[in-house]
Amino acid sequence: MPRTVHIIGAGLAGLSAAVRLATPDRRVVVHEATAFAGGRCRSYHDAAVGMTIDNGNHLLLSGNDAALEFLRTIGSAQRLIGPAAAEFPFLDLKSGERWTLRFNDGRLPLWIFDPRRRVPGTRALDYASVARLLWPKPENTVGETIACRGALYSGLIEPLLLAALNIDPLQGSAKLAAAVIRETLAAGGRACRPLIARDGLAPTLIEPAFDYLHGRGAQVRLEHQLRALRSEGGRVAMLDFGDETVALAEADAVVLAVPPYAAASLVPGLTVPNEFRAIVNAHFRFAPPAGQPPIVGIINATTQWIFAFPGRLSVTVSAGDALLDVPREQLARTIWAEVAQAAAPWTEMAADLPPWQIVRERRATFAATPEQDKRRPGARTTWRNLVLAGDWTNTGLPATIEGAIRSGNRAAALVNQMQS
Ligand SMILES: Cc1cc2nc3c(=O)[nH]c(=O)nc-3n(C[C@H](O)[C@H](O)[C@H](O)COP(=O)(O)OP(=O)(O)OC[C@H]3O[C@@H](n4cnc5c(N)ncnc54)[C@H](O)[C@@H]3O)c2cc1C
Repeated sequence: MPRTVHIIGAGLAGLSAAVRLATPDRRVVVHEATAFAGGRCRSYHDAAVGMTIDNGNHLLLSGNDAALEFLRTIGSAQRLIGPAAAEFPFLDLKSGERWTLRFNDGRLPLWIFDPRRRVPGTRALDYASVARLLWPKPENTVGETIACRGALYSGLIEPLLLAALNIDPLQGSAKLAAAVIRETLAAGGRACRPLIARDGLAPTLIEPAFDYLHGRGAQVRLEHQLRALRSEGGRVAMLDFGDETVALAEADAVVLAVPPYAAASLVPGLTVPNEFRAIVNAHFRFAPPAGQPPIVGIINATTQWIFAFPGRLSVTVSAGDALLDVPREQLARTIWAEVAQAAAPWTEMAADLPPWQIVRERRATFAATPEQDKRRPGARTTWRNLVLAGDWTNTGLPATIEGAIRSGNRAAALVNQMQS
């Protein structure tokens, strides 16, 4: 009988663990509660816009090494698209000013010395505050570490950290901000090229992982929710799915890759992050005008980022908790007016709303505060054959695709150790 690994949860943490563990000498079974894989990173057919869309726009950067390695393994790295260089067009909707941040490839930040490449209204010396964020007191917030005001803050630091931490940087963990800056700005433009799944999250990240797993004999069971873990002698001895139980042999292992609230209900005494932040996305069925860049950053508006996909413009608002109770149509109209203003150089858009959808993910990520960061557990648990994975475990990164995949890789490494 080959050793078996049961992976609970088919989000990116669970799928990346499964991809690493699907070897000929091992049986891998992935159990997913819902009818689809991908978790918070998924595509679905939306009747309102009449097309398949993603629950939310997901941005990767060329320095997301674990994510890119995962994509290469499952054979879909070529599905990510982005500009050849690290360029971010921005628009200040209040002043109407437009600029493009252009990072140079190397680690030495030569771009800060060029007024045409840096944030307008800043001087090279201002960028010293970015360096200050690299070595913060770990228990501090960003607001306690740097002055959160001025052109550099509103034109670079705030949009970057808001997107990466999904929290107002004032309250965000300086330690997590430092990790982001170390892997992006401080690593140079080569690590900062924006990459998006133009054809959708599922065809890029999820379906190829499924094909890879099926090709290696792994089983993925959808609509198979774990109800309880039964332990005996310091190990998980049985998985309880309600209508079915699965007994574990001595060498079998379990990777629990579910969201934090689900993990806490399955593992007694587990401390997990328990505060969350929302992400709101607005999708419009409207072909992007020729010349509109794939991603535009917007400041001084409700809209934060506009993404151009084939046949669709989509807007992301991170830390969007204040928008959760705004009537949907009102929100769609506000955002559409901003999208039209942003697109002015490329086309004139009618004021009429095209077919639209608002997707509000209330618990998009854990709240990246210093207090919540302290609640993140490591991968090992008190049960010797149970390991944790998920963007909320202690990865050292905020809740991102890169963090989720690194956690899956780490869980796989621990299972390999356990079963060797
Ligand atoms: C709108 C939005 C936009 C985002 N944008 C970005 C971005 O631009 N860049 C970026 O890097 N990251 C982004 N993220 C974050 C990224 O999506 C997550 O970090 C990542 O998908 C988390 O993966 P995960 O596997 O840890 O968790 P999840 O995706 O939550 O997966 C957990 C899985 O476990 C399943 N499950 C739960 N309970 C059980 C049970 N009892 N039994 C079996 N299965 C169970 C769930 O159904 C789910 O499929 C965004 C997130 C959202 C919501």
